[in-house]
Amino acid sequence: MVYHHSFATGGHGKDEYFGEPNKLNDQVDGRTAESCNVYNMLKMTRTLFALQPDIKYAEFQERALFNHVLGSIDSADGRTCYMVPVGRGVTHEYQDMFESFTCCVGTGMENHALHGDGIYYESGDKLWVNLYTPSTVEWKTMGVKLTMETDFPEGRTVKLKLELKSKSKFTLALRRPSWAKEGFTVTVNGGKVSQVPPAGSYVELTRKWKSGDTVELVLPKTLREETVPDNARRVALLWGPLVLAGNLGPEEWKWNRKNMDDLAVVPVFVTADTNVANWLKPVAGQPGACRTEGVGREKEVDFVPFYRLHRRTYAVYWDLFSPQEWNKRAREIAAEREKQHKLELATVAYAQPGEMQPERDFNQQGEDSEPDRIMGRPARRGSKWFSFDLPVDPAHPMALVATYYDDEWRKRTFDILVDGQKIGEQVIQERRTPHFFDVEYPIPADLVNGKKKVTVRFQATNGNEIAAVFGLRMIRADAGR
Ligand SMILES: [Zn+2]
Repeated sequence: MVYHHSFATGGHGKDEYFGEPNKLNDQVDGRTAESCNVYNMLKMTRTLFALQPDIKYAEFQERALFNHVLGSIDSADGRTCYMVPVGRGVTHEYQDMFESFTCCVGTGMENHALHGDGIYYESGDKLWVNLYTPSTVEWKTMGVKLTMETDFPEGRTVKLKLELKSKSKFTLALRRPSWAKEGFTVTVNGGKVSQVPPAGSYVELTRKWKSGDTVELVLPKTLREETVPDNARRVALLWGPLVLAGNLGPEEWKWNRKNMDDLAVVPVFVTADTNVANWLKPVAGQPGACRTEGVGREKEVDFVPFYRLHRRTYAVYWDLFSPQEWNKRAREIAAEREKQHKLELATVAYAQPGEMQPERDFNQQGEDSEPDRIMGRPARRGSKWFSFDLPVDPAHPMALVATYYDDEWRKRTFDILVDGQKIGEQVIQERRTPHFFDVEYPIPADLVNGKKKVTVRFQATNGNEIAAVFGLRMIRADAGR
């Protein structure tokens, strides 16, 4: 789960499903990272650490807690979230405070009542400090009270103060996070500890402690990238343990977004520089806030720690290009735009299924059918039939272009009919690489001769349902494309 299915925030899953292990490139966009899954992973993580105190559990706990879980609650009104997605051009799925009672509302409340759990662990004469957060622990078996003061996660200093009934010998095991590299220091009563283990291990301090002893840590954070396992050019940006989210605009954009390849909405970063700190610059006076410099196409992006960004459209994963790679991609984008432009020139009518006004305009009818929305794009699907009346131009050969999505949950089979006559049959297999695609169906001339419009009907076959239809376009098949 942690190493083969999880995103940078500690969340996982898309539309409540797993994909193939180590294949996250095509999984990042859309409805990803359901909150109750992360709740359950943390519950198991704390239990596993109690059975076997391996630092890897504490590292995952910090990642999931300071990113997904803290990001799953709107601190302005306390609403928790269903999905806390990580893709490009996404928004949080805030739950309605008085109407929703999903899995993620129940565990969502528990998540934030459990912040005291898993900071400290004890066994015999050893106390583990796993998380850095303002807290106090009463270690009753050793008669110790420990108070932690810290400005973490945006800050970098931690101060532990000990109060003891009497002097006693024990071990404090302080987690040195894997991201805390150069500049990490530990001091005891002002004296620097000279030998510290490498990042990603525990600093064990065994001594005879007395009341008033203090331990201080400095945890320096640096900017870095984390790639998805199957694409070294698709990255999340982190500052120490904190995933950074790029602010892309108001939350309302979510249903207006044409697609993730619109660079004016979701930019990409073009640079030959492999050191992120050279093009992502801190904003003075705002710890954790950064802005890209000279790399954004079509625009630069402002970042803040993921958990602080609410009620906005945002992205966690970004595509990186070298200038050479970008030249090639820019030519591909231009070719795709030209193809789309030619399709629009050939269009007689375009109906948008799943949106009220266009469905009225094109007289949408149906039985056991319903609107749907995937990756922000409206659609209509059904288990019996639905239809639209579309204008035709009998002076030209006509064709119908339908847009589908290659990631249906089950196999779909259906026929496409024009004025009652079958012009095509379609099969869409379940769970393929998620992408939108067009299918063109030529319409025999005798079905449009002398007509101004025709009824296009989708009819379920073989006991399967009709796939979601995201666009319906009547075109002149003889237009130069
Ligand atoms: Zn849930």
